[in-house]
Amino acid sequence: MIETDILIIGAGVCGLMAAVTTIQREDRVNASRITIVDKNHRVGGRLATARIGSGRGDQGAQFFTVRDDRFRAHVDRWLDEQLVRVWSYGWSDGSLYATDEDGYPRYAARGGMERLGERLVAELKEKEGTAPVDLRLNARIVAVSPDGDGWRATDANGRTYAARSLVITAPAPLALALLDAGGTNLTADDRETLTRLNYAPCLCGLFQVDGDVALPEPGAIQRPGAEISWIADNRRKGVSPDATVITVHAGPGLSRTHFDDEDAQVSARLIQAIQPYLVPGATIAASQIRRWRYALPLVLHPERYLRASKLPPLYFGGDAFGGPRVEGAALSGMAIGRALKK
Ligand SMILES: Cc1cc2nc3c(=O)[nH]c(=O)nc-3n(C[C@H](O)[C@H](O)[C@H](O)COP(=O)(O)OP(=O)(O)OC[C@H]3O[C@@H](n4cnc5c(N)ncnc54)[C@H](O)[C@@H]3O)c2cc1C
Repeated sequence: MIETDILIIGAGVCGLMAAVTTIQREDRVNASRITIVDKNHRVGGRLATARIGSGRGDQGAQFFTVRDDRFRAHVDRWLDEQLVRVWSYGWSDGSLYATDEDGYPRYAARGGMERLGERLVAELKEKEGTAPVDLRLNARIVAVSPDGDGWRATDANGRTYAARSLVITAPAPLALALLDAGGTNLTADDRETLTRLNYAPCLCGLFQVDGDVALPEPGAIQRPGAEISWIADNRRKGVSPDATVITVHAGPGLSRTHFDDEDAQVSARLIQAIQPYLVPGATIAASQIRRWRYALPLVLHPERYLRASKLPPLYFGGDAFGGPRVEGAALSGMAIGRALKK
């Protein structure tokens, strides 16, 4: 049995920001024992960068924007450290080869978006005078249930966790499944709130190209809602210095229709989208498909988190609460970190 004060399910932006905000508090809550669990072998969740051949490419979030000063404080630090850079002020839709700039910076992480998750983990280790945060990867929680005035959780390896407060940052359908598996009774209102939150899927292809790819400045095309919503060159973005790796995202419609197709079929469809930009002689050397079932929330909760009623402390957070972006997930985590009680 692993005993902790705060158990955070999910080491994506929301979960990591919740932990960072908690340890930065000036009250005794910052001395809480915090355990973060993630089913994956790495942190970051939808901030995901994968190797392909001798290159790398971002598979999930491609860039981020900043509107809120609380998130800006983190981003300013990341800019000083040269972890992130302004990548562009807008995107071309590919048709005119002209970039539609709106003056709003879009930031990219040098080396890939997963670096942001790794940076937040480093922040958890830097703070002196607080209990070390226990980060457990490859730990898929399968059920949670109330236990006295706290919570009990079980992972797929049979380990159990006892916590006073529970934070669930997994997408809402997965969060509900964990509660149902533990026989937890949410109020009808809370259940309805969570059930309404649904997400668009996304099929992502990474393609290593031998030869040149002529995407318009700054090396990316965005077409919201189209069959192919995004194409980006990870070499020009600063993610893949040693090889040209192109990320292609299918839009929600195409992703939904072809979600369960074989990799080869999905690859073939996504490669079609790159063909017009391949310089003669360029060939696809390797491909990799990633399926995001819960890529982007379509229905949002109006608050940055939901505190469950009539149960021990239980907070739901993530991008469906703070806004359908990296920043929204971060703001949701920060709000939970401020709300947690000892
Ligand atoms: C293809 C794609 C493109 C995107 N593009 C952009 C973009 O360009 N700009 C932008 O701002 N945003 C973009 N987003 C959205 C952005 O990535 C998300 O809003 C943000 O990363 C969500 O963070 P989160 O912490 O809420 O959730 P997640 O990152 O999903 O974190 C949840 C974590 O919970 C873990 N988990 C789930 N179930 C369990 C369980 N049972 N036990 C243990 N752990 C569990 C998961 O492994 C995951 O790590 C994109 C997303 C996708 C998928």
